Amino acid sequence: MQSFEHVPALRALVAEWRGQNKTIGFVPTMGSLHNGHRSLVANARARCDRVVVSIFVNPTQFSAGEDFEDYPRTIDADKLALVVDGVDALFLPKVKDLYPRGVDNATTMVSIAGLNSELCGAHRDGHFDGVLTVVNKLLNIITPDMLFLGQKDFQQLYMVKQMVSELLIPVEVIGVPTYREADGLAMSSRNQYLTEADRPKASSLYNILCSISESLNQGNNDFSALENAALSKLQNLGFVPDYIEVRRQQDMAKAKAEDKELVVLGAAKLGKTRLIDNAEVSR
Ligand code: AMP
Repeated sequence: MQSFEHVPALRALVAEWRGQNKTIGFVPTMGSLHNGHRSLVANARARCDRVVVSIFVNPTQFSAGEDFEDYPRTIDADKLALVVDGVDALFLPKVKDLYPRGVDNATTMVSIAGLNSELCGAHRDGHFDGVLTVVNKLLNIITPDMLFLGQKDFQQLYMVKQMVSELLIPVEVIGVPTYREADGLAMSSRNQYLTEADRPKASSLYNILCSISESLNQGNNDFSALENAALSKLQNLGFVPDYIEVRRQQDMAKAKAEDKELVVLGAAKLGKTRLIDNAEVSR
């Protein structure tokens, strides 16, 4: 596996691959890799001739007071995992490689009106502008054929697909199913913040989303009653919920009784750990 910090050398490798007619798969991450990330890599490995992974803790997607400084960084273990997984190139840029004018002077950002301030966007100011901007930059550098993202971050996946479509970026976006612990907790780099006492409780978020999805399957359309009952349940278990919402899969608009393809989305804090998850429903 070749590692790159700077853009020109990685671009040269990509040009070489293009000259050989190789297809390129790309997996963007913030590192502290777990089996969820590794399932994205496995999907990329299975579908593309060459695989690029980036590890970059992107400052612009953290709001004030969030865990940017404390975000877990385990670069040596990450590199070992990526070599084992057969990754061809690792991109490890520094902030100045991706934000040439510096973060504070960056004036060009990508933003999707509306959804950027809904759901997670309502609780994480500027988060999605930061995500879309950095993904756009990485796509401009790597020009992959396929981009692999996790379905765990449903809103992020939806918004990246929307950006790719509206900005006419020539890449296929592939959503990969959420990789879970045995008790159902979605794997996340932030799970290591959970205390021993909180860890067994953490899977309740997914269990509650699944019980809403069962009710929806059985024809229950009282979305706000289901959402409110789930919020109370989470509070009783010691979570501080950000939101629980039933939305349409197709456009992420609020669900209506006649909708068949739904997704139940939730985010809640347990201690200092913010957990997010979702459950899809086809009825
Ligand atoms: P992150 O490093 O948390 O920014 O995540 C990088 C990519 O991995 C994103 O596309 C996430 O959606 C995806 N991802 C994170 N956790 C999981 C998981 N448990 N299963 C599948 N994909 C995941």
